[in-house]
Amino acid sequence: MYVPLILTQFLDRAVRLYGEKTAVIDDNKKITYYELNERVNQLSHGLKQLGVEKGDRVAYLAPNTLEMLEGFYGIFQLGAIMVPLNIRLKPEDYLYILNHSESKLLFVDEELYHLIEPIKGDLQTVEKIIVQNGKGSEEDLFYDEWLSQFSKEPFARAEIDEHDVCSLLYTSGTTGKPKGVMLTHRNNYLHALSVMHHLRVSDEDIYLHILPMFHVNGWGAPFYYTANGATHICLRKAKPELIFEKIKNHNVTVMHMAPTVLNTLLQYHDQHQNDVSTNVRVVIAGSAPPPAFVKRVENELGWEFIQVYGMTESSPLSLISTIRPQLKNLPIEEQHRFKAKAGFPMIGCDVKVVKENGEEVKPNGKEIGEVITRSNGVMKGYWKNEEATMSTIQNGWLHTGDMATVDEYGHIDIVDRKKDIIISGGENISSIEVEGVLYEHPAVQEAAVIAIPHEKWGETPHAFVVIKEGETVTEEELIAFSRQHLAHFKAPTSISFVDELPKTASGKIQKVQLRKHFWGERERLVN
Ligand code: ATP
Ligand code: MG
Repeated sequence: MYVPLILTQFLDRAVRLYGEKTAVIDDNKKITYYELNERVNQLSHGLKQLGVEKGDRVAYLAPNTLEMLEGFYGIFQLGAIMVPLNIRLKPEDYLYILNHSESKLLFVDEELYHLIEPIKGDLQTVEKIIVQNGKGSEEDLFYDEWLSQFSKEPFARAEIDEHDVCSLLYTSGTTGKPKGVMLTHRNNYLHALSVMHHLRVSDEDIYLHILPMFHVNGWGAPFYYTANGATHICLRKAKPELIFEKIKNHNVTVMHMAPTVLNTLLQYHDQHQNDVSTNVRVVIAGSAPPPAFVKRVENELGWEFIQVYGMTESSPLSLISTIRPQLKNLPIEEQHRFKAKAGFPMIGCDVKVVKENGEEVKPNGKEIGEVITRSNGVMKGYWKNEEATMSTIQNGWLHTGDMATVDEYGHIDIVDRKKDIIISGGENISSIEVEGVLYEHPAVQEAAVIAIPHEKWGETPHAFVVIKEGETVTEEELIAFSRQHLAHFKAPTSISFVDELPKTASGKIQKVQLRKHFWGERERLVN
């Protein structure tokens, strides 16, 4: 018999098996899976009373909180669509997304309410604002008070098909205006099963929510950790001292984070020499190029490092760093080199690296092609943007815009975004490779390399560098260091020292912003 794959089944399983277990800890709030389920039911009853129907969009603007986590399941029970909003946007961006998605309701955390206040009068479809962890203004609803009126009894769920859309996730906007990605129950369900397998998720896991749930990388955690009865620890801000504190206080076993956040943990550890005898078994980093610090994470923090690759459009993950068994006898440094590659397709994903003529690249670690993927996680399309959907998904294959090589063992190695590759004198330079070398310099805290115009070569690499506190280094020294470790044409020819780099809310460096200084408001044209 056909059983549709619906995300609410994950919570059902947790309640049946792990009802008495702690489901969520959010600062001083602590609830079991039974209690979580009751709150989810209350929420669904409340949404129904506010007129939410199947297919309606419900927007959510909050850091990682208990309320947001229950929001997922509360919204899904009605067959409604969750639209999580990035907490670092500007009021005009929220206006664009809320009107574009035609959201009916908006949940907002008190600490972010000021971002919505200026646009309230211009919201075309939002009928009600529900404020959590504080009160908004008189016409709004106050979450706790509002929720408490409703029954904890099971909610009569809507008829849902697995191909129905459950989320409208706006992309990070690293390269331009965010696009609304439509993901279905089936997309998220099968993606979650694959992640559970690869990360060996179990009921013994205690998961620290560092990646924001509003971002696609953090979005899946309420599914795979719930299905297995793991405990969720909420975290509002990804500050190193807070992360180490939560790891210790709650015996955290697993975390996912952007490499930039992992980098701040390493810096913090350098300064404070934290006690690393923790229960953390693995840390997963993706969503941006990882600099060469795999070995530091494994050796100094003692955490297994796994790199993943993906994008919102594919739920998100499609590659996971895995070492071929025959390589496990190699010295550990060599193994780290392989682990720093995005690796192999995850279960349920088909991934190819193709040249412009459509042929797959040779597995020689040199030939560069675009990553294309076909998987259970690939989106239904972009919301209200048929044209972008058709150019991104061709003949069933998602064109990622990311470039990669394949080595002789089959590991896929992400070279760069097509738009970030620097073309100097006809040679392709991976900004990621250059950054990797800069990160090896002891004075460098962060680095981002971009193409800038060059009279003779067309383009040349330029580096933005943040120096570690208390360290000094000159432009000449860093250029000389790069030349020692890279072919000369790849080394940056100039360097800007900055206090910080512009980042998206999930911690990705926004190279578009950096390029603006050199190319003006118009993005540099990429062939
Ligand atoms: P937008 O599409 O709005 O410009 P974005 O592409 O940053 O933003 P996401 O979907 O969050 O939005 O990010 C996916 C992108 O992140 C990938 O296309 C890729 O460029 C980059 N990425 C993800 N994982 C890795 C990885 N392991 N190594 C290198 N790059 C990665
Ligand atoms: Mg993208």
